[in-house]
Amino acid sequence: METIQLRNTKVSDVAEATLLFQGKPYALKDYPMFPAIFNSGADRRLLKAGRQVSKTMTFAADIISRALLTPYYPMIYANTSAAQTTSFSTSKLDPFLVHSPIINRSLMLNKNVIDNVFNKRFANFAEVRLTYFSETADRVRGNTGFAFYVDEVQDMLYDALIDAEECLSAAPHPKFMYAGTSKSMITPLEYFWGMSTQKEWLIQCEGCNKYNVPSVENIGAKGLICKSCGKALNTYLGFWHAFGKEGAEYDGFRIPQIILPLHCCSPEKWVNLLQKLDKYPDYKIKNEIMGDPLGEGESLITEELLRSITRPGMHPPVQKDGPTCGGASYMAAGIDWGGGGGSGTSRTVISIYAANQAKPEYRMVAGKIFTSGEPTKHLQEIARMLNAFQVTHVYADHGGGNFAISQLAELMPQVSIVPIMYTDQAAPLRWDEKARRFTTNRTNMIDNFIGDIKKMHIRTFDWEEFEPYAMDFLNVREDTIGEDRGISKRVWRRIPSAPDDSLHSMLYGWLACRILCGYTEFTAA
Ligand SMILES: [Zn+2]
Repeated sequence: METIQLRNTKVSDVAEATLLFQGKPYALKDYPMFPAIFNSGADRRLLKAGRQVSKTMTFAADIISRALLTPYYPMIYANTSAAQTTSFSTSKLDPFLVHSPIINRSLMLNKNVIDNVFNKRFANFAEVRLTYFSETADRVRGNTGFAFYVDEVQDMLYDALIDAEECLSAAPHPKFMYAGTSKSMITPLEYFWGMSTQKEWLIQCEGCNKYNVPSVENIGAKGLICKSCGKALNTYLGFWHAFGKEGAEYDGFRIPQIILPLHCCSPEKWVNLLQKLDKYPDYKIKNEIMGDPLGEGESLITEELLRSITRPGMHPPVQKDGPTCGGASYMAAGIDWGGGGGSGTSRTVISIYAANQAKPEYRMVAGKIFTSGEPTKHLQEIARMLNAFQVTHVYADHGGGNFAISQLAELMPQVSIVPIMYTDQAAPLRWDEKARRFTTNRTNMIDNFIGDIKKMHIRTFDWEEFEPYAMDFLNVREDTIGEDRGISKRVWRRIPSAPDDSLHSMLYGWLACRILCGYTEFTAA
């Protein structure tokens, strides 16, 4: 293996010196905004990009350069689907690895090399594992790495992403790189962007000396123009300027299509872009060309709907005829464990229901939203409540709650405690005998739950006490992911800065009631 002098070498220099793309050296001279991204020392780099700005190629170049620079370096790459990850592996990583002679000789020619679509282990034992997730981190959880590359991050469920990042919990200096194209304001991408350095490619006008932050007003008939005087702008004179906090944990770069020479300096591409301006709807122009979000997703759950299931004058705990609530067939509870998600937006919530087998009616008779702290700190109080209501079945979220679940089971051996895991499986609900838990399609089961609220099969106590639970429901939006890649699917997303634990706690409790009472027909998506 040849040795390469790499000390004090910039990652972008390594990429340019070693990588070949389509038979030509990988050169960043026409990508003047990219060296800063390669060389940023931040622990978390963020690319908020338009479509077709070479962000995926940048991921591939970054991964391979760091593999070359750092023997034994384990990396993880994740996209949102098997197809997307396969495409990255075979049409971005592979061409670089095969066609770049230095890279090929240094990293690929050794009997210990593993060269699979989902796993590449190089001659120096640097490694990249390739995976995918969107609704749950279950597939990703077993991996460990020192660096994590997350592509199309706007389509991932924030809670799943936080869970997936645990793969780096043992890394001495965990490094993250995220990229995506914004759609709505409620994506993890926008959430991270808000906490980032928010760097914009500023271009000074050579006519009036004003600085331009790229926007739709910079789109002239033949290329980029100054917003103030209309003179042509030279994107090669641009530089990154932070509008967020300098030194923020996330080093964020916004890359709209229009600043790339590939687009703004090519008459052909520019005509193409102008045509899109004419025929694209506003949101597509904002998303795909400018890399900006539009709107906050749709909220189909209203306060009015939630008020409709409350029972005025019924103050919890509802203990009509003692703790079993009027001869209920079953007493069940749902628990969503807090802890994940950070920033005070994830709390443990318990919802206790009384269910009658005779008709589909599930009455939430008590509950508690624990303010903060580890789930295990609330176990004594949870056990007290379960005892008081003679609850026999508890359905609780599996993600991140494993430890709490086993402790609760130890504390209350007489109660059946069933883990629930959200997935993106096709079937609405499945029993996993090996893991002894239910798995459920997240979108689909939330649909069914909201459907039962609309039918008023779920009832709860007075609004005065129910309001804090209801507020969590209002933090949830319907969104569509992957439509630009032809894999469009509807999902439920929470605003990352706001909690939604009450909804899930109530859903788990309701699901327990339905299963116990035998109402197990769920509407499929
Ligand atoms: Zn000007």
